[in-house]
Amino acid sequence: MYDLQLTGVGKTYPDGTVAVSDFDLVVEPGEFVAFLGPSGCGKSTTLRMIAGFEAISNGDILIKGKNVSTTPPEKRPTSMIFQNYALFPHMTVRQNIGFGLDVKGLSAADKKAKVDRIMDMFGLSEFADRKADRLSGGQRQRIALARGLVVEPDILLLDEPLGALDANLRRVIQNELKLLQRELGITFVFVTHAQSEALGLSDRIVVMNRGRVEQIGTPHEVYAAPATEFVARFIGSNAIIEGVNPTVEGEMASVDTAFGRIRGRYAASMASDAVVLAAIPAEAMRIQPASAAAGIGENRLHGTVSMKHAVGSVGHFKVDLDGRQSVDVQTSTDNEVLMQLAIGDAVVVDCPSDRVTLVGQG
Ligand code: ADP
Repeated sequence: MYDLQLTGVGKTYPDGTVAVSDFDLVVEPGEFVAFLGPSGCGKSTTLRMIAGFEAISNGDILIKGKNVSTTPPEKRPTSMIFQNYALFPHMTVRQNIGFGLDVKGLSAADKKAKVDRIMDMFGLSEFADRKADRLSGGQRQRIALARGLVVEPDILLLDEPLGALDANLRRVIQNELKLLQRELGITFVFVTHAQSEALGLSDRIVVMNRGRVEQIGTPHEVYAAPATEFVARFIGSNAIIEGVNPTVEGEMASVDTAFGRIRGRYAASMASDAVVLAAIPAEAMRIQPASAAAGIGENRLHGTVSMKHAVGSVGHFKVDLDGRQSVDVQTSTDNEVLMQLAIGDAVVVDCPSDRVTLVGQG
């Protein structure tokens, strides 16, 4: 049985804004799923519908096989962690964490035992009686997590919970979150607009755009095999080159572009009578001086170096193809021949066909 099932879920706000449409998803028990997309694409609305804070306009939501579409939030087996943590600043850590248990009708002793256990787990015991507004961002984040988990939910819903933390602390808490999720085996549904967070933390990613699901897949799938133009532009750093007249051979296809024919794997969104876009990952492209690139390599693009810089062990090149389009290429700074390339030098960029994806436009 699935932990969570969304079937044709949609939300139209009273002012007519269609925030979410036709959202279908099934989540296995213990999965870590991220909703990823730009601001305003409907991630939080979907999360709030799962929690029950927002009524759904279409479709159904099932949790562990039970239809909860009209069940009030406090009767759903979910906990939600908000971006700003929504802690009560003048209540102590213990009171904040215990708050969610108050509605459960536990005895005082049971409640204390549960709160003590979770404070211990999160390293919060020494702050038990301190007011929440006297704690650091990382500590407040842990209180919010502890408060969400103390009620032992089937599904933990997290709305950009790391957004308020600085970059270093975010990395630390990301690791903790992943370990915690593995340890507890609770299903996590996580909202983020940061692809590194989604790629690094989740088992599967739902990529959203304008209220619709663009692609659902493992981090590797959405990264290496984007299904649509939106995903190809949003995830990773792909060069996007326009093509026409595709010919399909098995799982591969090739298209005519201004820079010659490009061959790659094709996505379902590619249509034979419309513009096709070749998505070429920056890290899969190889760059060579034109003089040394004697006809070897697939998908060869001729150009000139228009920018070059190195960050740590990664060399970044921008290669101008025709005065209008350029591609970004990454290399290792260990390659001395490449690091000697100068602005204006003629180069050839190539990329194996199995790393290129052909997607439909739009
Ligand atoms: P995200 O979480 O991806 O940033 P949201 O789910 O918050 O996106 O918002 C999706 C869309 O719904 C946006 O266009 C937003 O402006 C709109 N929206 C969100 N809440 C409301 C509301 N209460 N009333 C009307 N429109 C809303």
